[in-house]
Amino acid sequence: MTEEKSIEKPKIYRVATLDELGANLPILRNGRDGQPVQDRSFSFLDWDMEVEEKISKIQSNAKNVGSLVSQMMCLLLDRFCGESFQELSKEDQILTVNQLEFTNVMYMYIFLRTEELGYDLKMDVTCPHCKKLNKGFVADLRTLEVHVKEEEHERQHTYELMKPILMDNGDVVSSVTYDISKWDTMERATPDVAENAGKMKQILFRSSIANAHAEDDGGKEKNYPIDLVIKKMKKIDIEKISSAITENNAGPLMAMKGECIHCKSEWFRLLDWSYNFFFDSSSL
Ligand SMILES: [Zn+2]
Repeated sequence: MTEEKSIEKPKIYRVATLDELGANLPILRNGRDGQPVQDRSFSFLDWDMEVEEKISKIQSNAKNVGSLVSQMMCLLLDRFCGESFQELSKEDQILTVNQLEFTNVMYMYIFLRTEELGYDLKMDVTCPHCKKLNKGFVADLRTLEVHVKEEEHERQHTYELMKPILMDNGDVVSSVTYDISKWDTMERATPDVAENAGKMKQILFRSSIANAHAEDDGGKEKNYPIDLVIKKMKKIDIEKISSAITENNAGPLMAMKGECIHCKSEWFRLLDWSYNFFFDSSSL
């Protein structure tokens, strides 16, 4: 009777570490011709004093962390998927970064940190079990878990709503389609997004849902404005879609595993990737 449920879900990524993946994009992307770009490599220019000055200028003018990271990538990317990134016009550079999968940019940003400042990331962690402080815990970014999408891993999925939505005009929305968020969604980020997983979830939620499918009285299929649908979505569906989206976005797991020095229990600590922490000597 439960046979259908026992069918294994198709895998949507493979698991690797930052060390194994190296300077390669975690998410296979499509080029302008719609075909997968097999060369996923990237490299950065040297971060010297001149770059340092430019970045501190960018930092004081950037409207949020999304825009700061975009501009850092434009300034520092050297080779990108087999092409010279710096030969692109300024407009094409920005466009390229903004249209990249959210998690591809996130990964390059973390990789840049390891290249410039090394793999060790020092942080203070309060143990969630015994509540005692683990001062100066050092995480090794080489061990950071990364979820990698290859050609066989689907990126667009349909979610059937557990509670279909009755719209004002009588149409019923029964499912939504979601895809990996693009980096430009970070334009909407608030300053605390780097330390606030909940805020990040909200932003990704809205930007990952690509379509809402509705049927009218006559059973005719049509697409529906997404904002209207999201407003009427029920709690259970919001939670389930949220987790599905986070899983499907793949890329670097934004948390590090550690063991409490006091009670020896294992914990996961959210990675604070704000520029002021991640690229500062206090994290060394
Ligand atoms: Zn503890």
